[in-house]
Amino acid sequence: MKEKINVSEIFGSHVFNDSVMKARLPKAVYKDLKKTIEEGTELNPAIADVVANEMKEWAIEKGATHYTHWFQPLTGVTAEKHDAFINPTDDGKVLLEFSGKELIKGEPDASSFPSGGLRATFEARGYTAWDCTSPAFIKETDNACILCIPTAFCSYKGEALDKKTPLLRSMQALDIQTTRLLNVLGNKNVKRVSTSVGPEQEYFLVDEEKYKQRKDLIFTGRTLFGAMPPKGQEMDDHYFGIIKPRIEGFMKDLNIEAWKLGISAKTEHNEVAPAQHELAPIYNSNNVATDHNQLLMETMRRVARRHGLKCLLHEKPFAGINGSGKHNNWSMVTNEGKNLLDPGKTPHENQQFLLILASIIAAVDKHADLLRMSASTPGNDHRLGANEAPPAIISIFLGDQLEDVVKQLVTRGEATESKHGDKLASGVHSLPAFEKDATDRNRTSPFAFTGNKFEFRMVGSTQSISDPNVVLNTIVADVFADVCDRLEKVEGGVEAVAMEAHEITKELLTQHQRVIFNGNGYSDEWVAEAERRGLPNLHSMVDAIPTLTTDKAVKMFEKFGVYTKEELESRVEVLYEQYSNTINIEGLATLDIAKKQIVPAVMKYQRKLANGVAELKTVGVDSSVQEKLLEDITANLKDLFAAINKLEADIPEAQALESEAQARCYHDTIFTDMSAVREPADKLEMLVAKEDWPMPSYGDLIFEV
Ligand code: ADP
Ligand code: MG
Repeated sequence: MKEKINVSEIFGSHVFNDSVMKARLPKAVYKDLKKTIEEGTELNPAIADVVANEMKEWAIEKGATHYTHWFQPLTGVTAEKHDAFINPTDDGKVLLEFSGKELIKGEPDASSFPSGGLRATFEARGYTAWDCTSPAFIKETDNACILCIPTAFCSYKGEALDKKTPLLRSMQALDIQTTRLLNVLGNKNVKRVSTSVGPEQEYFLVDEEKYKQRKDLIFTGRTLFGAMPPKGQEMDDHYFGIIKPRIEGFMKDLNIEAWKLGISAKTEHNEVAPAQHELAPIYNSNNVATDHNQLLMETMRRVARRHGLKCLLHEKPFAGINGSGKHNNWSMVTNEGKNLLDPGKTPHENQQFLLILASIIAAVDKHADLLRMSASTPGNDHRLGANEAPPAIISIFLGDQLEDVVKQLVTRGEATESKHGDKLASGVHSLPAFEKDATDRNRTSPFAFTGNKFEFRMVGSTQSISDPNVVLNTIVADVFADVCDRLEKVEGGVEAVAMEAHEITKELLTQHQRVIFNGNGYSDEWVAEAERRGLPNLHSMVDAIPTLTTDKAVKMFEKFGVYTKEELESRVEVLYEQYSNTINIEGLATLDIAKKQIVPAVMKYQRKLANGVAELKTVGVDSSVQEKLLEDITANLKDLFAAINKLEADIPEAQALESEAQARCYHDTIFTDMSAVREPADKLEMLVAKEDWPMPSYGDLIFEV
């Protein structure tokens, strides 16, 4: 018999959520807090003590002994500093305490987190401030049970040192501008607009014992060596394939852990590559979705260990095999629950939708460089532009129906019809003949309209989804603000506003239609076509970083109070440093593995072969095959040796540089040097006997889970 799981009992059991607050807090306090959470009003400090005490009581009942301000520094992972609830009393006993002050404000030693120059070490004060819009939760690991309080992390002067603060600011900016837009269009009842996000997370699972034998995976999260196995993903037989029992065990366990945290896992299926999987949570408010995704990545890693597996979140763990991304599904919803990206059945008649759509298209075109930047990580450089991932060029897929409406608007000045999906024609009478979606899917577009949301598909699997959403929210707010400026000047009532809105829609679409592309985004023709259209194609993270501090970007982010110039400059510094650090580690790991594992193994095998040749000769048998193999191995070993020497000589030169120059050097020189080491090493892997190769192969890692 299968053990029964009571989902409704488990779901959210570790979260100090609305129903817990409602049940435990005094009515007035609950109402006060709820107002702050829902309407973004200022938090009433007088209620903090009451909330803190209830939170503590609840957490202790759940077995918690410590609390922590949980925050998201610029490292991209989460950080926490644990404090015990315990306070000693005079009579040698202890009291379990947690005050409002402790709930609202924390002061971690900020000096150890990257600040990109925002904070000199002598003024290292940084504060964490309670973000009551994301619920507190309990993190239960094998050794600890901790109450986690989501917080924003700022410097003494209020500069954002984290990824949450700018996200909250960008949500606020979009809320203000969208509400303004809807109000001027005549929707006076709309008071607030929030962003909904559902990030689909891709990941790999490999056997932990095999993982431990791969120093490259241990140090860098990706393989730095490895010849392609005879079978890769070309059969495509893995996509939606049958899930193996051990993986199934992991997924079941992961579901339960995620449910406890109030994260609803929706689909889990095998992805294109062997050993690759995907998890899609049900969408949530932008801020909560971001926190959940951070938690989910952490939980995946932890649960994998329980099953003797290792969860690889790197964007490109295996060269030549599909990488992992994070599809950021994004939409806007009003306080009345209306999804603003829902076109309805007849989009051509939906003026408000068309104006919003046109504005988003304009935003993406105007700030394509920033969107590209927001999906940049050293790991994602392997994906973007390679054949399985969206290219580094930003374009929008609208689908047949909307593309047709846009075309009507641009060429004829008005749209009079919307295409509809035909009946599904399977040719089998007994299969149901339902109406197809009006639009087919396009898997190659980096920014695709998928029915009632946009899906930004460039985002890397390791990334916090904060950065892409900060950019998305702000660029859309930016265009909305311009549109509002125009609409608010119109005199003559609703009719006149509607006419102007129609004019603006046409204008925006005409000016920015170059970013719309419904074809195959993976083709070479598109790269050439995009260049003709003047669309930016930023090849690497290092190329993309400077886009953060262009005049255009600074002006926009400052206008909406999302980032100051100094905050942007600090991020640029942190990003260069992160890039350089990553490639530096990869370079050193490449050297280490090549010198200490691969070269010795090859030399040992060489000796074996040489002895074999000698033995064959003494008995007068033909040894030409062995000699040829020996020659090939020796030639590759020589190449390998030369490449190692070059890499070893170049690394100190890169290390001596700083900032942009350093990142450039790591990108242009060290990265290339590493490939030069890898090439002969991978050839050698194919020449040396399996039992003599010092690490598990690609085949071992991805087919034997
Ligand atoms: P699709 O069929 O387009 O892949 P799914 O329904 O499978 O869409 O959802 C994919 C992801 O998008 C899920 O994480 C889901 O929660 C999220 N999603 C669905 N609708 C919205 C929305 N309106 N806003 C944001 N995310 C959404
Ligand atoms: Mg998707």
